[in-house]
Amino acid sequence: MNDIIIVGSGPAGHTAAIYSARAGLDTTLFEGWMAGGIAPGGQLTTTNEIENFPGFPEGMTGPELMATIRKQSVGQGVEIFTETVESVDLSKRPFKVKTPSREMEASAIIIATGAIARRMGVPNEDKFWQKGISACAVCDGALPLFRNQPLVVIGGGDTAMEEAMHLSKFGSMVYVVHRRDELRASKAMQERVLANEKITILWNTVMLDVGGSEVLEHVVLKNVKTGEEFKQDAKGLFYAIGHNPNTVFLDDQLDLDETGYILTKPGTTNTSIPGVFAAGDVQDKVYRQAVTSAGTGCMASLDAEKYLGENPL
Ligand code: FAD
Ligand code: NDP
Repeated sequence: MNDIIIVGSGPAGHTAAIYSARAGLDTTLFEGWMAGGIAPGGQLTTTNEIENFPGFPEGMTGPELMATIRKQSVGQGVEIFTETVESVDLSKRPFKVKTPSREMEASAIIIATGAIARRMGVPNEDKFWQKGISACAVCDGALPLFRNQPLVVIGGGDTAMEEAMHLSKFGSMVYVVHRRDELRASKAMQERVLANEKITILWNTVMLDVGGSEVLEHVVLKNVKTGEEFKQDAKGLFYAIGHNPNTVFLDDQLDLDETGYILTKPGTTNTSIPGVFAAGDVQDKVYRQAVTSAGTGCMASLDAEKYLGENPL
């Protein structure tokens, strides 16, 4: 039996694994196999340059960063299986974890399965993904490609407002495309956006497609009230239409919020079941950064180590 099983292979899972193995705990990590359509290594494997992860002043690509972090896990003695966890049994200790190839037991479990940014799925989206289209303005907004250019954000929630505010520092104008005539975002965020002269909200508007030659040059929009279709110049397009946390395999055994994120006790990584911890984007819908995921991965390992010390099997 393992001391700790970690499910998930982004910065949260690997940081938890490195800390657990260094603490002398018998640690196994399931990195998934195209879990949720994403390669082992998580969301960073879907992007290019990472310029805000400390320690790499020249930047590094997402896949390189995750390969480096994985190497550190292996070097610390973490056993890694390239398998997706299909189900867990958290009803009693030892907890059970099942993949298509094996079933394993552990005294403690860390869930670090991340989340997936929702996409619009318009016809030419794949052609311009990462060539103007991004799901993370905080990550990509400062790139030279977007400086003094018209930028578009899709969505009307808090993320869309935060992204628009952030992008207004770089773009010539930020157009927030929202499908209704009322924002979902909190009042305070709305007020900040409405007062920003570099943000224009296109109400009752949906996006039909994107276009350009090598990189994104425009989006095709439609006003749902008037039926008018029009092109809007855009060098950057940022999706802020929500994320789907990877929690379906938990089968409601842990307390989740109304959108499927794992609920943790504030200031800890404790879930509703003692001995089960959660780290990274699967329990964080606000910060969603590699470094914050790594930070909570560290917390989960320390919380689990303490728990195992106090509750030996
Ligand atoms: P994730 O990275 O989401 O990884 C979890 C992974 O676990 C999954 O992807 C999958 O491979 C695996 N998994 C899922 N389910 C299972 C299962 N059932 N069994 C086994 N394995 C499973 N952040 C930054 O700080 N800087 C950036 O520049 C930056 N750029 C980004 C660009 C893009 C396009 C995107 C989408 C995100 C970007 N982010 C960036 C955000 C960052 O990627 C995330 O905050 C971070 O990766 C979250 O880490 P995580 O460990 O919680 O999980
Ligand atoms: P939300 O689900 O709150 O908002 C998503 C937005 O995208 C909505 O306005 C929705 O429109 C729109 N949308 C969804 N699907 C589509 C689609 N297919 N086409 C067009 N528009 C679409 O997600 P967020 O990521 O904004 O926020 C998630 C949670 O995180 C919230 O609880 C939020 O408060 C919180 N958060 C808090 C922050 C903070 O406090 N600083 C920062 C970021 C997030 P509609 O409104 O019509 O449904």
